[in-house]
Amino acid sequence: MRELAYVNGEIMEIQKAMVPIEDRGYQFGDAVYEFIVSYNGRMFCLEEHLDRLQRSMAGLEFPSMERESVRGAILKLFAAAAIPRAGLYLQISRGVAPRNHQVPEAAGQQVIMTIRAVTEKPTELRENGAAVITTEDLRWGRCDWKTVQLLPNVLAKQKAVAAGVFDAIFVSAEGVVREATSSNVAIVKDGVVVTHPLTTHILPGITRMVVLGLCRELGIPAEERFFKTGELYGADEAFLTGTVTEVLPIVKVDDTAIGTAEVGPVTRRLAAELRERARA
Ligand code: PMP
Repeated sequence: MRELAYVNGEIMEIQKAMVPIEDRGYQFGDAVYEFIVSYNGRMFCLEEHLDRLQRSMAGLEFPSMERESVRGAILKLFAAAAIPRAGLYLQISRGVAPRNHQVPEAAGQQVIMTIRAVTEKPTELRENGAAVITTEDLRWGRCDWKTVQLLPNVLAKQKAVAAGVFDAIFVSAEGVVREATSSNVAIVKDGVVVTHPLTTHILPGITRMVVLGLCRELGIPAEERFFKTGELYGADEAFLTGTVTEVLPIVKVDDTAIGTAEVGPVTRRLAAELRERARA
């Protein structure tokens, strides 16, 4: 087991991996990324992550890359690291060029990765649920593209940490509940799961999609529609979904307890089913 980095085809120690200072990802946030995990030595939803990567790259009008070569690079690093429960970060920047807002003709995309053991969320949080705060969504208009421009997410997460809670949920100026800093949000009311529809305001989460599939399979009614903070406060249950977050119960939002302030049955079931599928 070795934590490793990958820079444009070369695998090395993470501490030795460097990027040029004129990488556009570094200077402009002109880069896209994915974070993929493995369970028991098998990558989970790799193809879905590659689909989303292609969509993000197309959104920024990056020259397209051979899907086969990206997949090959990921699997090569994964095999070299041999970490059964790994978290692989992949970033592709538009390339390296003298600093200029105008997109350079040919800058040579930079592909970098790191692979480390996953830091699991504390069991206490999974068992008893998390508290979160809401915060105004100050992000840009294309949150459906997975770009590295994460400063609003960083600041919102830090606001949550300062408030002594797990995370922050972005809410629009009109009060629409969008998503959390690195996960999607769902509520449960009268047995129905409700989550934000796929628009430009949220990331199309892979875990969100898997969980909606589980709902269909298990006969749990699910709706993709807008809901506001009032519905969130008044929900029976609420949870986050994300690659590392998995299905994480929310038991408190701002000063309001959700339902009985205990992890509800729908959340508990979806969390268990997701883990089972991922580990299978
Ligand atoms: N929303 C945001 C803003 C995220 O960063 C993430 C994590 N990639 C998610 C949602 C959840 O997506 P996924 O289930 O694909 O990890």
